Amino acid sequence: MGLLQKLASIFNPPPKPDRYYEFTVRCHRCGELITGRADLHNELSVDYGEDGKLENYFVRKVVMGEERCFQRIEVELFFDKNRNLINKEIQGGLFVEESTPPQD
Ligand SMILES: [Zn+2]
Repeated sequence: MGLLQKLASIFNPPPKPDRYYEFTVRCHRCGELITGRADLHNELSVDYGEDGKLENYFVRKVVMGEERCFQRIEVELFFDKNRNLINKEIQGGLFVEESTPPQD
């Protein structure tokens, strides 16, 4: 215990990417904003390339609003090997881009 240990605690490992990918969509039918999230640890399916090598990941989510509109919104998210989002598709709604953070 001493200086070395203190120094080690300063150099924390870099933060890991978020486990959850969160998204916001707007329902085509009623305009409700709906948020959903994908669990990048448990919900990703592997998309193998033609030669059987690991290529990418994808996840399909179906979200529905809480109001009396039963429009199902299908979201497909595609990630690379490092679980970085590379593409996304939606049916039944529109993606809402991240809004600027609230300012106080
Ligand atoms: Zn709706």
